[in-house]
Amino acid sequence: MRSFSIRSLLVLCALLSASVLRAQSGALLLRPDRVFDGTDLHEGWAVLVRDSLIVAAGPASSIAAAGARVVELPGTTLMPGMIEGHSHLLLHPYNETPWDDQVLREPQALRVARATNHARATLMAGFTTTRDLGSEGAGYADVGLKLAIQQGIIPGPRVLAAGPAIVTTGSYGPRVLAPEFPSPRGAQEADGDELVRVVREQIGGGADWVKLYADYRWGATDTSATTFTLQELRTAVEVAASAGRPVAAHASTPEGMRRSALAGVTTIEHGDAGTPEVFRLMRERGVALCPTLAAGHAVSQYRGWRPGQPEPPRIVRKRASFRAALDAGVTIVFGGDVGVFAHGDNAREFELMVEYGMRPLDALRSATSVNARVFNLRDRGEIRPGLLADLVAVTGDPTRTISATRAVRMVMLNGAIVRQD
Ligand SMILES: [Zn+2]
Repeated sequence: MRSFSIRSLLVLCALLSASVLRAQSGALLLRPDRVFDGTDLHEGWAVLVRDSLIVAAGPASSIAAAGARVVELPGTTLMPGMIEGHSHLLLHPYNETPWDDQVLREPQALRVARATNHARATLMAGFTTTRDLGSEGAGYADVGLKLAIQQGIIPGPRVLAAGPAIVTTGSYGPRVLAPEFPSPRGAQEADGDELVRVVREQIGGGADWVKLYADYRWGATDTSATTFTLQELRTAVEVAASAGRPVAAHASTPEGMRRSALAGVTTIEHGDAGTPEVFRLMRERGVALCPTLAAGHAVSQYRGWRPGQPEPPRIVRKRASFRAALDAGVTIVFGGDVGVFAHGDNAREFELMVEYGMRPLDALRSATSVNARVFNLRDRGEIRPGLLADLVAVTGDPTRTISATRAVRMVMLNGAIVRQD
């Protein structure tokens, strides 16, 4: 009797696991109102997914989907899973805890525990990939998070990690101690020949991208000033490239941006004081701008400004430089510097891109096909057969009303529905 029960149980388990396997390997037909494929909008399209891949996309009547489970998504636009271009999963908003205190006083285990929430919030907001540009004092914790997500231990987006990031000696914070004391830093210092070793060390530690600070607020009056020489930047790019790693350069001064562009970085982050001349250089050199509009917008609010009030000089300048970048035809990648503001609120960057002069369709292209191309992710960022089934459905039409990107109805990662409202 007892052995029979166990055998029954085993049979039941086998049946259950078989049905789970069937469900996993069965095809799914997604039927939204329309599809944004990463480039254009198509009314009445449907998308067929099998296992982890998109196998068909086109007019609903043209897709042979016999036997597929149908997922009705009325009222929605189905898009490629969005790609956040500039996050810090190890940071939380500065109005909760100032950056210095996060770096100096929060134990790394606390930061990682919080970052697991950030990773989940990112994925649930429809961002299925994130380029995480520096752990800000948390070493290689971003690489660890990436592994935890890959191994299914925690939910989250696919992560491109940068590790600790690299700054010149003396330029980066926190700057809270007298210079007589060795000070902890939010990134790893390296100069001259040492830079070669540190770029290699970070790649060896798991960095998918090398993040450098080409300027920082260490100028004479706490303004931004250049850090690495052009030669140092060239060397870092060459060393990174020989290991197949692209470089992202933080730069907001024209000279920091100019050096970065001449050195051959792939993206320039922020670009706040960019001039028409430097944006033309970026366009000529094929260097993309990650404008991080939302970060400055958030920091201005932490300092007391409220939207609707006259804009502080920082925002006025940012609007003008973003406009100049658009006019120069610079490739714009989507990236908000999320972490400065709340993870999961990534769509804030979309709203500002449009408010500052970009067409909604172009902002959506940035966060999908453009980011995928610039980040060399050929398996995602578009809806077409053979690409990864990383998808998001939002209520409404974001090509008309960009804030529809907030109205997430369904998220699919690697062919599995991870959110459905
Ligand atoms: Zn950043």
